[in-house]
Amino acid sequence: MNKKILLIEDSLTFRNYLELQLTQAGYDVFSAVNIAEAREILAHQPDFLCCILDFCLPDGPNGEAIELALTYQHKVIVLSARFQAEVREQMLAKGVVDYLLKDNTASVSYLLALVQRLEKNKHHKCLVVDDSVTIRNHVVQLLQHQYIDTIEAENGEQALTLLKQDPAITFVITDHDMPEKDGIAMIQEIRQTWNRNQLAVLGLSASDDPILTAQFLKAGANDFLNKPFHPEEFYCRIHQILDMKEANDELYRMANQDALTGLWNRRYLFNQACNGCQDRNIAMLDIDHFKQVNDTYGHDGGDSALITIAKILQLYFPEDVVARFGGEEFCIQACGEFDNFVERLDKLRQRVEQTTIYHNGTEIRVTISIGVAIAQPSLDTQIKLADDRLYMAKENGRNRVIAH
Ligand code: GH3
Ligand code: MG
Ligand code: MG
Repeated sequence: MNKKILLIEDSLTFRNYLELQLTQAGYDVFSAVNIAEAREILAHQPDFLCCILDFCLPDGPNGEAIELALTYQHKVIVLSARFQAEVREQMLAKGVVDYLLKDNTASVSYLLALVQRLEKNKHHKCLVVDDSVTIRNHVVQLLQHQYIDTIEAENGEQALTLLKQDPAITFVITDHDMPEKDGIAMIQEIRQTWNRNQLAVLGLSASDDPILTAQFLKAGANDFLNKPFHPEEFYCRIHQILDMKEANDELYRMANQDALTGLWNRRYLFNQACNGCQDRNIAMLDIDHFKQVNDTYGHDGGDSALITIAKILQLYFPEDVVARFGGEEFCIQACGEFDNFVERLDKLRQRVEQTTIYHNGTEIRVTISIGVAIAQPSLDTQIKLADDRLYMAKENGRNRVIAH
């Protein structure tokens, strides 16, 4: 991950303050006090997440540093003590990411959030839907200035096809009036598959129809913007949409993932879509004599063992649902041929048996017992059946797989 930031600022106090804030936030700051120094750094250091620069520098009082950073295709954030309206417009037109007044500490927190936003934007891909090439190009360019990847469609029908093909798309910006399928009809179809948290949609329209905003929102758009729009408002809306999406993804992850091992948890297992599938196999796994591991190596020794076992499970079943069911019990759901699943489980059992877990200079060895069940009318009964077999495996001497 690129954490490098070029800071060009002649005021020592402000430069030190920014440098401290950015470094504390984990960024690698390269500082220059004037354009000459910046030129030197830029010539030797090709990749920066962004350049934060003062509009007025001793050897460039009128934003000359902006041109310099833009020649290197860098993302530029401009700082100044004051901005005239036309200067601001000119800068935005040139493609700077944003500008900030250095008048208070609040603008520094805004700056930090903005830099973090730029970094996170690299994980997003926007589907831009509009029948006008001019508008599409404009929107795409604005998004690319902020590291957001894009893909384009010229109508709702084409957009739906692209959405199904490309799971990397994280949000959609769409026009309303388009041939083949309009924006509102497209959003209604999108919402049959993805909810507002899974796929955000921003509606755009040039129409003067006052009811259109409400129609967009009722169809399931997250937000709406009238054309023509100011780039600053556009960015604010995009940032809001992405902040919301990320917070929601994080919430989903926290609710469905086990904190210690990073595996799915029990809640996820019961909620995921495969329920009702015809050839779903379930295995219940339990570490043997795990209480003794804790008693001998301490609770953190036990935790290390759990983490290692979880990694092996993911390694052996990368395509399947691997969940921590509770304590030292795991569950694997895999669709496909039963006997083949059982064979893979036995290989897994052997691998665990042969694994040495290193913890604070000591070596821990564990084994696992496994019970397996073929598809049943409900997940509950299938898990119960696998659990009964797991119990049999324990009774019959542990470190074994029982599948019948
Ligand atoms: P068996 O072979 O019959 O499964 O015996 P066992 O000792 O593995 O089973 P038992 O259910 O008696 O003990 C499970 C232990 O797992 C007890 C509990 O303290 C421990 N445990 C549960 N969750 C965690 C955890 O997150 N970390 C650690 N270190 N230990 C845990
Ligand atoms: Mg156990
Ligand atoms: Mg147990």
